[in-house]
Amino acid sequence: MSTLKHASHTLLKSINQQKVLHLIYSECPISRVELAIKTGLSQQTVTNIVNRLLEDQVIVEGEPQSLESGSGRKRVPLLLNGSRFSAIGIELSGTSARGAVYNFQHVRLAEAEVKADRYETEEDLLRVIRSVIDKLIGQIPDPTCLKGIGFSVHGLVDSSEGILLRSPGLGWKRIPLAKLLEDEYGLPVFLENDTNLLALNENMGGSLISSKNNVTLRLARGIGGAIVVEKLLVTGSSFVAGEVGHYKAFMPPYDYECYCGGRGCLTTLASSRGLLRTLGRSWEQFNEAVRAGDPETVRLSEVVRTAIVYSVANIVTLLNPDRVLLTGFMLPVWGDSFVDELKARVMAQVPETCRNVEFLHLTDVEDETALAVGLVLQSVFKIPLDSLSL
Ligand SMILES: [Zn+2]
Repeated sequence: MSTLKHASHTLLKSINQQKVLHLIYSECPISRVELAIKTGLSQQTVTNIVNRLLEDQVIVEGEPQSLESGSGRKRVPLLLNGSRFSAIGIELSGTSARGAVYNFQHVRLAEAEVKADRYETEEDLLRVIRSVIDKLIGQIPDPTCLKGIGFSVHGLVDSSEGILLRSPGLGWKRIPLAKLLEDEYGLPVFLENDTNLLALNENMGGSLISSKNNVTLRLARGIGGAIVVEKLLVTGSSFVAGEVGHYKAFMPPYDYECYCGGRGCLTTLASSRGLLRTLGRSWEQFNEAVRAGDPETVRLSEVVRTAIVYSVANIVTLLNPDRVLLTGFMLPVWGDSFVDELKARVMAQVPETCRNVEFLHLTDVEDETALAVGLVLQSVFKIPLDSLSL
């Protein structure tokens, strides 16, 4: 066989194996017959691949199950040997790096957190990240099971190159984090912005699975947004698309200065970090004053609610999504029934042609470290999640 022919044969074998492995991962338990039907490969090819994966202990056989027809034949389900693989997931924010190790059966094996008041230098940030990774690796019995490190970043990232981009709220500039850590730990490293990661997860298998055009908005410590058009994540020309926090939402006298250098950004009053920076009040203190009926705070609360309504109405009119997914601990701060109020007021504001939009409220968000592990999973099994990124 010529070298070229041999190479293409090897590649084909590897593509076929990925197809089989992807199906065992995503549809497990699945039988050999179902694998042949779904991949379009011959029974013999599937059998060869499955035997190889069983030999390498990548997959295991489950308890044989009788077929419904009662023919006496049994179906042997194939499952991923999830305990043999694991990955590190890290939530990286402006005040901490929080990490966990999960095996591919979604069992958490270790966790660690390192706090940082703020990162004065890049080296500070890297020290905190290394410290979390080292603590996690120190807790697991067999580090050779690790298949990669995923990051959910509360800031802008170039996910295709694995670079942390300048983020005024967090104080770092352009750091080639993936390359630095890959060289150090010998593991593949993946980065994604936290709201983009949440939106991708919901679009792949969560509440947005049947939606093609959607916007995810998270109102929490900061404000994040993710835009999906025709199932593709829109990142913009410099990864800033969806940064709703800096949407100009407040007019004088409420147009406070934002850390981005602008004025009147939504985040200055509608996020917990913004409230603290702008008014010197925690969201709990703000909430307490609203409940106590303090007139100035009640008036300000209405100003913020209206700003959120207008922002969402403009986004709906601009992008014409079929779903808007709302999440974040700041939503109830604007009132117990704020989500219902928001829907009703947005619907009354947008053109009739945009009113096919549905609002979803996600209260139970998966832990960010688990979502970050998902970045590693999708790479190992070539789940076509990355095809969602432009
Ligand atoms: Zn701003």
